Amino acid sequence: MDGWGREIRSVRVSVTDRCNFRCRYCMPAEGLEWLERDELLSFEELSRLVRVLAAMGVDEVRLTGGEPLVRRDLPRLVELLAPVPGVRDLSLTTNGVLLDRLAEPLVRAGLRRINVSLDTLSHVRFAEITRRDALDRVLAGLAEAERHPELRPIKVNCVAIKGFTEDEVPALAELARRKPYVVRFIEFMPLDADGSWRGDDVLTGGEIRALIEERWPLVEVPAKPSSTARRFRFADGAGEIGFVNPVSEPFCSTCDRIRLTADGQLRTCLFSRREWDLKEPLRNGASDGELADLVRFAVRHKELKHKINEAGFVPASRSMSQIGG
Ligand code: SAM
Repeated sequence: MDGWGREIRSVRVSVTDRCNFRCRYCMPAEGLEWLERDELLSFEELSRLVRVLAAMGVDEVRLTGGEPLVRRDLPRLVELLAPVPGVRDLSLTTNGVLLDRLAEPLVRAGLRRINVSLDTLSHVRFAEITRRDALDRVLAGLAEAERHPELRPIKVNCVAIKGFTEDEVPALAELARRKPYVVRFIEFMPLDADGSWRGDDVLTGGEIRALIEERWPLVEVPAKPSSTARRFRFADGAGEIGFVNPVSEPFCSTCDRIRLTADGQLRTCLFSRREWDLKEPLRNGASDGELADLVRFAVRHKELKHKINEAGFVPASRSMSQIGG
């Protein structure tokens, strides 16, 4: 329970800060300064921390990065985490480019849910955003995920940027209609490495919804209180769309999340200015009880809300890929 009475049930675990894409809204073309190998938590260290968290009531674990699939042997980590008592929901967020090869071993290891990031279905625009010519491989990765019925739902996440994403909306909405994918639009947040985010760059979920409804009426579906997304189904029953609106409709009051960076820092908000080191105590022989006390202390200080829309907002101390989005 945090200091504001919110129950913490979900952890996003970053397994690497490295990525094989260079999305413009996330990372500079030349990449960032990567963590050294020994700074990364090992799979054993990660699974120990997840065990400690699960024993405290965290039941949802999402693996992320950087690009989690570039971490060598990731299925082995999934194998360690899937049986942890209390972990009810183990999922992965990926850019999908290595998924055609890894979907099967991941499912075999116990992965049951996946989110694939995809901002456009146009080859040219895909290369423009990610600085990689890899759309076909991402689509192949999605198709491979689809071949595994254990892996559901498949969510496709699209970061919405004003002046860009409007043109992508019809094709992405159609993707949600013709494929078993829940397509979700996520508002652009001030987490880009080069700090170029401006409020005017945000294409809100409300604006996208209006664009979709010009063609296909939507009906809202109730979502879990802690859900980050507002869910809608097409009125004709053809599929599901979601909107994650952290800027225009902040959902901090029901936030149940904490994050663990690849170098073992606990963050209680995407926009935290402060991190709580778990790596050093972990490596210096702290007991499970001592680690739990550190987590409890950090969680007690969880931020009430992000302040993106307030005067004097100070961006987070690290970019999305370094935190683990
Ligand atoms: N590489 C994986 C992927 O592509 O899903 C996992 C990490 S990535 C940082 C997680 C998500 O954060 C992606 O969907 C990405 O598009 C999104 N993201 C990155 N920078 C963002 C920003 N400034 N605002 C909103 N979402 C962002």
